[in-house]
Amino acid sequence: MPSETGAKRRKCPLCGAPRVDEYKPFCSRGCRDRDLLSWFGEGYRVPVDQPPDGSADDDRFDEG
Ligand SMILES: [Zn+2]
Repeated sequence: MPSETGAKRRKCPLCGAPRVDEYKPFCSRGCRDRDLLSWFGEGYRVPVDQPPDGSADDDRFDEG
């Protein structure tokens, strides 16, 4: 009784090729390395987003 099993969306997130268990979830070492490099690249160039936090502006009421 033939049944189609394992036909899930198991593809390389980078190029879409069928992935290999050895380099999962990627299809090859090249794609895996590329993903790693992209992570490092983002680590170095992280956008610094400082929210307008008014911690220095202390507004108190001076009640005697
Ligand atoms: Zn790939």
